[in-house]
Amino acid sequence: SEEKSLNFIEEIVETDLKEGKYDKIVTRFPPEPNGFLHIGHASSICLNFGLTQTFNGYTNLRFDDTNPITEDTVYVEAIKKDIKWLGFKWENEFYASDYFDILYGFAVKLIENGLAYVDELNSEDMATLKGTPTEAGKNSPFRDRSVAENLDLFTRMKNGEFEDGSRTLRAKIDMAHVNMIMRDPIIYRIKHAKHHRTGDKWCIYPMYDFAHGQSDAIEHVTHSICTLEFIPHRDLYNFLIAQLEIYPSKQYEFARKNLNYTVTSKRKLLQLVNEKHVTGWDDPRMPTISGLRRRGFTPSSIRNFCNRTGIAKRENLIEFSLLEFFIREDLNKTSWRRMAVLDPIKMVITNYPEGQEEMLHGENNPEVEGHDGERQIPFSRELWIEREDFMEEPPKKFFRLGPGLMSRLKNAYIVRCDDFVKDAEGDVTEIHCTYFPESKSGEDTSGLKVKGTMHWVSVKHAKTAEVRLYDRLFTAEEPDREEGDFKDYLNPESLVVLKNAYIEPDLANAPQQLEENPDRRYQFIRKGYFCVDADSTPDNLVFNRTVTLKDTWAK
Ligand code: ATP
Ligand code: MG
Ligand code: MG
Repeated sequence: SEEKSLNFIEEIVETDLKEGKYDKIVTRFPPEPNGFLHIGHASSICLNFGLTQTFNGYTNLRFDDTNPITEDTVYVEAIKKDIKWLGFKWENEFYASDYFDILYGFAVKLIENGLAYVDELNSEDMATLKGTPTEAGKNSPFRDRSVAENLDLFTRMKNGEFEDGSRTLRAKIDMAHVNMIMRDPIIYRIKHAKHHRTGDKWCIYPMYDFAHGQSDAIEHVTHSICTLEFIPHRDLYNFLIAQLEIYPSKQYEFARKNLNYTVTSKRKLLQLVNEKHVTGWDDPRMPTISGLRRRGFTPSSIRNFCNRTGIAKRENLIEFSLLEFFIREDLNKTSWRRMAVLDPIKMVITNYPEGQEEMLHGENNPEVEGHDGERQIPFSRELWIEREDFMEEPPKKFFRLGPGLMSRLKNAYIVRCDDFVKDAEGDVTEIHCTYFPESKSGEDTSGLKVKGTMHWVSVKHAKTAEVRLYDRLFTAEEPDREEGDFKDYLNPESLVVLKNAYIEPDLANAPQQLEENPDRRYQFIRKGYFCVDADSTPDNLVFNRTVTLKDTWAK
């Protein structure tokens, strides 16, 4: 691995270890199972798991499943799959819901110590009494109940005697605290809802603030890393741990990583799925791990992106093109080069005998020693070439084909364009060329010099495929900061489907090649990097473009 300087959290950990505060560190990645993981989560995963790989220790996967309404085992499974795919192994698989009994006991302890009470204010009145950042709040009329009365009411809350919203358990701290979160925060609420793991056992559920830090402590998490919006919660985190006299986990905050031209919020991504703006959580246009995987991104490209864009103390917006930089870097080293014509026009080589054909060969990957082997490419009199590679009136420096121009056919021969055919509408339908037999790639004795190289596919041997080209999902850099709804800024051209692309015959083996090697990816020469899509059937091969060869996003 390469030398890199430590980020600020790594520095904290290094110092803690040097000073002997811990002999090993424990971190956790704590997703709420209410959606699929996105690129922002990948950043948190790389940070949490990366820390315990760099330093002595381990990382737990903890599902923060304290809200029964939005959570589902489907998400649990998807999250586990994504973390594994990213290349990380958790030490323990834990669930906050497994701690419900312990957490209930913690709440009872607070009540017994005069540090919690059952409130009957509705949410509006509670908000009014909370005050403002510049104005102290006021005590609830229910604040001074006796311990016995609180214990009785809390038990009855647990037993299901009360309706949702009619009672809450609040920590008794200080209604004049400068930190609004310390003004008697709610720690338990009533929700008569089935939980994805505990079923109907509970009808009261702990709030985030009364589950997260406590779960960290139960697991002896040393460094509990979260995002900046939890800074104001740190006081409460420390207060509760101190009052409960449990393991003193410490909270550290870093900035969320956001990508431009997309949204990274599970709630918004769920809207895109539910309202069918995309085909699912794993739509290749989604910034989810599963979407990026289906699009053809590799685990290492995502890890490199996360690690090399660093860990910041301020919210920042990162260019999507940077993610593309890392996948290009990866795929350039590993992908097999192939030829596919996306927008075909026919070329006839008039001096190549009718009925004749020959097998040429092309290296799989010029970037590696031995070229990763080679494949056979059939060549014949009629070829498909890319429509944009011919111009009737080419400008200067057009190094492909036009009347009188010469170009090299990749892995084959040099051809010269002599003529072309138009249909009644004036559209070019056929290009006529002659080829130079002594210019064959690898054994060229023609002495001809040409600047351009073009890809092609033999008409007789071509297979067809569906090719899906993707563009940014939104037209605005920060769709959720624009006026109106973020969905108003969806890019109507984020997906272009080419139903009838021509591919060289070896590409028809792509599904088998993927089975042999799940990392198998292709560079369609001059067109970008592609992978086989899960929608492929024996009759309809589908390729996704992962990324173009060059950055086409530059402003
Ligand atoms: P969302 O708003 O997408 O629901 P969340 O923070 O509520 O995000 P969690 O499931 O609670 O989602 O996240 C698990 C962990 O991932 C948390 O520690 C959270 O701070 C972190 N995380 C979430 N989004 C980002 C992001 N954009 N950048 C970095 N870390 C993130
Ligand atoms: Mg969260
Ligand atoms: Mg959330």
